[in-house]
Amino acid sequence: MRVVLLGPPGAGKGTQARELVNRHGIVQLSTGDMLRAAAAAGTPIGLKAKDIMARGALVPDDVVVAIVADRIEQPDARKGFILDGFPRTVPQAEALDRMLAEKGLRLDGVIELKVDEDMLVRRIASRVAEMQAMKLAIRDDDKPEVLRERLRAYRAQTAPLVAYYRKQGALKSVDGMASIEDVTSAVGRVLADAVFRSAPKRAGKKAASKKPAKAKAKAKAKAKAKPSKVNPTKGAPKKAKTASKPASRKAKARKNASSKTRPGRTPKNARKSAKVARARRLTK
Ligand code: AMP
Repeated sequence: MRVVLLGPPGAGKGTQARELVNRHGIVQLSTGDMLRAAAAAGTPIGLKAKDIMARGALVPDDVVVAIVADRIEQPDARKGFILDGFPRTVPQAEALDRMLAEKGLRLDGVIELKVDEDMLVRRIASRVAEMQAMKLAIRDDDKPEVLRERLRAYRAQTAPLVAYYRKQGALKSVDGMASIEDVTSAVGRVLADAVFRSAPKRAGKKAASKKPAKAKAKAKAKAKAKPSKVNPTKGAPKKAKTASKPASRKAKARKNASSKTRPGRTPKNARKSAKVARARRLTK
């Protein structure tokens, strides 16, 4: 499964990406995490990105595209991945389409977490307050003035991706203002639908297997109707407990008819029961 999570900073992309990792066992590829790791490691890319990130601006497309191209080549990304924070511009999205097309792959879905900006600012402010209360270091770019710049960058450069993916028919929007659990459920639902739609082969297989399943059911019913010679109890009429739960209208009608004679017995299955009892006596 290959999925993009789209949404402004603080929309909950990271949280939802981790949920998907747990559920589907695929990797979360967060360009923000990769850039922060590169900055912490002091690599040339990291050093270049550090200042840009601290300002709340976007790192140049060629830098992030190269990072992602390299990352999706890794063995752990073969099964699928969740892109969190990438693409963030239309040129990045086009580069991703090309990367996937070269491998004969495509995205299963792009999930937009829709959130109200005021709510976002409040969310991040409370995240910052929690971290500070626990005496934990906060991200430089979570400071209010930098956050405003990140939101500006989102509106100007990332929001156009909504139209880009809608045009491709890949976009699914989810209310990101709901509780984490509700957002997770909504994401699960849209993904199940998206993956089903993007897997016509699997759907075809299902349709093809319909006939044998029907034939199997018929054979099963036939086998049930005939008491087995090997196991005389096989195919024997069900006890009153199960007979009290008729599965079909026919079964209900049989039950009603039998209640006039002996509960749970029709003349036909009464004969079968006698046969079974005889068989049981013989096998004792
Ligand atoms: P995030 O952790 O996704 O909020 O990203 C933190 C910062 O990393 C962003 O504000 C950008 O400066 C930079 N960044 C992350 N992903 C990208 C990207 N796809 N394109 C450009 N810059 C990025």
